[in-house]
Amino acid sequence: MKMIIDTHAHLNTDEFKSKIDDSLKLLKEHHVDYVIVVGMNHEANLRAIKLAFQHKELYATVGIHPCDIKNEKIEDLIPLLKEKKVVALGEIGIDLYWKKDNLEDQKKIFIQQIELAIQHDLPIIIHTRESFKEAYECVLPYKGKVRGVFHSFSSNIEDAKRAIELGFYIGISGVVTFKKALELHEIVKEIDLKHMLVETDSPWLAPVPYRGKRNEPAYTYYVVEEIAKIKNISSDEVAKITSNNAKTLFRLEI
Ligand SMILES: [Zn+2]
Repeated sequence: MKMIIDTHAHLNTDEFKSKIDDSLKLLKEHHVDYVIVVGMNHEANLRAIKLAFQHKELYATVGIHPCDIKNEKIEDLIPLLKEKKVVALGEIGIDLYWKKDNLEDQKKIFIQQIELAIQHDLPIIIHTRESFKEAYECVLPYKGKVRGVFHSFSSNIEDAKRAIELGFYIGISGVVTFKKALELHEIVKEIDLKHMLVETDSPWLAPVPYRGKRNEPAYTYYVVEEIAKIKNISSDEVAKITSNNAKTLFRLEI
């Protein structure tokens, strides 16, 4: 199979501590060549950068996750954005599942980070949970100025079209392998591959046949296979096009 890029994994969490080498070995066995390690707060951001420096197949992003805004400072991001293997600002956005009482603060921090991404000419990785509309409305005024992905997309086909209309990619995670993910199946069927990235969000959201276990970046393989099945095309085609999308969005020199 052609090259696969996992565009969203948290190898910088405790779940992977001391197990990185096993995860990297597993990648090779599943045709996954590169992984973007996504930051969420200062500690995770530093760990993502460190990993990217240690391993040629890893890249890093830095950002303040909407669930982490309380103890984080935007200023801490600025020097990190200039690090060589930092390829995006993320993950950032709005979360109305875990936190409902601080929407205005979430919006403020999200918008500050969108502007920071524009200043640094970096794409953004957007987290939404029960909050597509709110996140979309924050991005809309910057249409054409900011690029990025709505990661682990979990809304409906209309919202997927709105995201694409903004010039954004849709991140497809292992949820696509779940039988009951009917809206996501519809999105994968309807939307052109040129608008899609593949990802795991590991250690979370493990796909079938590993559902309920710790997810691995290597399992992007199953996401690719499922998309191919739904679209009735070859896995090679899915791998090739989604990897090219990732290379373009994150300007990976590979
Ligand atoms: Zn994530």
